[in-house]
Parts: sequence; C-alpha cells; structure tokens
Amino acid sequence: MTAARFEAAPDSLDPTDWESVRQMGHRMVDNMVDMLAGLREAPTWQPLPPEARQALRSGELPAGPTDLAEVYREFQTLIQPYGSGNAHPRFMGWVQGGGNPVGMLAELLAAATNPNLGGRDHAPIEVERKVIRWAAQMLGFPADASGVLVTGTSMANLIAVLVARTRALGTSVRQEGLQGKPLVAYTSVEAHNCVARAMDMAGLGSQALRLIALDAQHRMDMDALQTAIAQDRAAGLQPFLLVGSAGTVDTGAVDDLPALAALARAEGLWFHADAAYGALAMLSPAQRPLVQGLSEADSVAFDFHKWAQVPYDAGCIVVRDAALHAATFASQPAYLQRSARGLAGNLPWPTDFGPDLSRGFRALKVWMTLKTYGADKLGEVVARNCALARQLAAHVDAHTELKRLAPVTLNVVCFRVRGEGCDLDALNADIAADVQESGVAVLSTTRIHGVLALRAALVNHRTREEDVQMLLDAVLAAAARRRSPA
Ligand SMILES: *Cc1c(COP(=O)(O)O)cnc(C)c1O
Repeated sequence: MTAARFEAAPDSLDPTDWESVRQMGHRMVDNMVDMLAGLREAPTWQPLPPEARQALRSGELPAGPTDLAEVYREFQTLIQPYGSGNAHPRFMGWVQGGGNPVGMLAELLAAATNPNLGGRDHAPIEVERKVIRWAAQMLGFPADASGVLVTGTSMANLIAVLVARTRALGTSVRQEGLQGKPLVAYTSVEAHNCVARAMDMAGLGSQALRLIALDAQHRMDMDALQTAIAQDRAAGLQPFLLVGSAGTVDTGAVDDLPALAALARAEGLWFHADAAYGALAMLSPAQRPLVQGLSEADSVAFDFHKWAQVPYDAGCIVVRDAALHAATFASQPAYLQRSARGLAGNLPWPTDFGPDLSRGFRALKVWMTLKTYGADKLGEVVARNCALARQLAAHVDAHTELKRLAPVTLNVVCFRVRGEGCDLDALNADIAADVQESGVAVLSTTRIHGVLALRAALVNHRTREEDVQMLLDAVLAAAARRRSPA
C-alpha cells in the first residue's frame, strides 16, 4: 500500500483525503511509542550538531506547501534526537518532570478538540474545575478554594503576588495603581528567582523582596525573618506577603511551613507557598509530614509538569479566598459579556483568575494522568525519588573522593569532587559538562555557601537505582580523566 500524500483542500486546511492524516498520525504515534520505549538505551542528551542547527535556522517564511511527510522527516532528524533530555531516566540535571505516555495521548485529544478554556459553558471547563478541586484536596485546602492552570509556577507565583497586593491595598489598586504604597515581602535567599521576578513584574520592585538568611537545614531563619519584618515596620514600610518554599531548587529544602503560617497570621501577612515540585510530596505518606503545612497557606503555586509527570506545560495556582482571587483579575468588557443562559454562561470563568484570556486544554493531560495512574502511584514516584536521593547521598558520603555540600531533605543531592592544588570550582564545572556531553547522564551545578556544587535532582519517574549508579560512575570517571588526561 502506498502512503496517501497529505494535500490540503482548495478551500480549507483539511485534507482532500482524510486517509493521509490517519496514516501519518499512526506513523507518528508508532514512532513516539518506540521512542519512549527505547529511552533508556538512547543518550540522555546530545548537543545539536552544527549542520542541524544551521538547517533549523535557515529558510524564509514558507510561502508555499511542503509535503507533510518531508516536514515530519525534518522533525525526526533535526529535532527529536536533540531534545532537552528531561524525559530520560538519567536526567537529574534540573527539577524537571519526565512526562508520561498518557499525557502524550491526552495532548493529541486536546489539540484535536481544540477548545478555548478562557471561559463559557462547555465540558472542558468542568475538567479544569475538577483538576483544581483535586489540587485543593491534595493540598488540604477547602473545597471552595479557587485556582487556575497556568504555564508554570513562575506565572502562578505572579498571580499570588497580585492577589496578596489586592488584599493589602484593596481592589482600587487595579484602577489607581500603587500610589507609592511601600509594600514589602519576605522569602528565603534560596527561594526561586521567579519570586523576585514576580515582585518586579507586579510593579512592586524586586528590592521590595527581602531575602532572609538560612538555618542549618537551609530553611528560612525565623529570627532573621522576624527581625526584618520589625525593621521594615519601624521604617514605615508595609509588610504584606511571606513566601515559603516547599522544595527549593538548590537543595530541596522545605521551610518550616507551620511556623511561617503562624507568623504570617500574627503579622497580618498573606502566606504564599512556592511548592513547585514539593506539593506532590503531599501524595507520599513518607514525605507528607514535611510539607503538611502547605494546607495552612493562603495560596500555593505548583507544577503538574514536575513531580506529577504531566507533559509540559502545566502549572497551577490554588487560592483559599476565591472571592479575593476573582476580585484581583475579573473584568467584563462588552465583548466578553456573560449571560445566565447559553454558551456565554457558566460563571466564574478561568480568565477571572489570572491574566490569560485564551487558554488551551492543559487540564485534559492533567485529568487523564491523575485518573489513569491514580494519586497513590504519583506519590510512590515521589517516595522512590527521595529514597534514591538518600542512596546517592550515602554513596557520596562513603566515597573519599566526594564531599556532600548540603543536607538531603527531599530529592536533591549537592556534592562535589574533592581535590588539592587545583581550582575545584572549575574542575567540578568541567565534570558536569563532561558527563552531560558523554550522553550517559545529566546533572547540573549550583553554588552552595559560595562554592560550585554538582547537583543531582531526582524528579523522573523512570529513574532507577542503576541509573543513579551510572551517574556516580560517570562523575568519578570524568574526575579521573580530568586529573590525569591520557
Ligand atoms: C521550577 C520551579 C519554579 C519555576 O517554575 P516554572 O514551572 O519553571 O515556571 C519555581 N520555584 C521552584 C521551587 C521550582 O522548582
């Protein structure tokens, strides 16, 4: 049988022969299933060859058609082999999820049906609402908490800053602006940089975010926090927001969330938690006690695309006070007129809870992933990743050539290769790049107490003990080669 060639109809973008779409689709699904099934044998990451990069960068806006089979061939040869690697079991570089096959299929269904989840009355809106309800349940939030799916925790944190601002200044801030009100916020020095960016984008300024020092467990130091709040009040400033971290990117540290919640209540601050990946620890009985304090927050930001393994992108914000959340974003221009009946009903709409109007059907891949696997199974991934992190830490501690640089709270292990008479920062940076370029595994670097650390973040559901061992062996082999080049 010869493949039917995809050819667009003269008066639409649909094909003249639907068989051509079916055949190409089947081929693509077959190839992607083979790709996922063979991940473990493929390189974790490989650099984009110069010719491939050149090919991707060349060419003007295509005025005429190209055969779909040819376009797909370009995907297969130029794009697919040179991805970012985070689907691979030995990707331990950054805090990134691995995706999952159910989520992959859900993306096809979402794109095929192509609803706009800004609002209106249709079933996909109910799917997103259900996902938000499940998120609230996972976090121990009340059932009437509001929320919305967004690109990621960066956007979710921005939404939280804006809601906290509305609480501090009233809804008139939306018309009148800040009017010079000196709002200040607090988080730890180890908080993700997107919290500072959120302050910046909200017009409050990143300098109005106080970065509080850490205790020995890399948690926000409570005494330093209280001192900073008192000093700001004495200076006539208006503290309004406290941001706790449940799982920092640097070390996986979890702030003392119940203590932060109590302090925020006493000081009248909005308590927001950046739980980008740590929120999913709520699903693991072993890890839950560490993050249980999330249920005391006023708002929580987290990602389904990290520890919940939903394909990118799928971030989430959940807010305890739905009315305040809506009062921060809702507005009703005439062209978005709502009605009690018909397609323009079904209030409130997702657009009332964030800056986006048009929104894709992200909720479907989350809904299908959660339903198909069940929350317990995702909690087991969390538990397994944390157990592997402890194992890796034990190997590091037992090895004379390696030194651990931070406590292991959840799933992140920071360490480095020891040495004398050389620049250890440079040596370890080279080792990280050597291991990445070897294709065996990916780890990243960060700075801990001023020195460069190798960081292994265990987030991927596919990672096994043998993968952690291969990473460790690759680090030691790279160190040996660097010390005595052949
Ligand atoms: C990943 C991460 C972020 C940023 O989330 P995005 O989904 O990349 O926008 C923020 N905070 C923490 C703790 C993270 O791990």
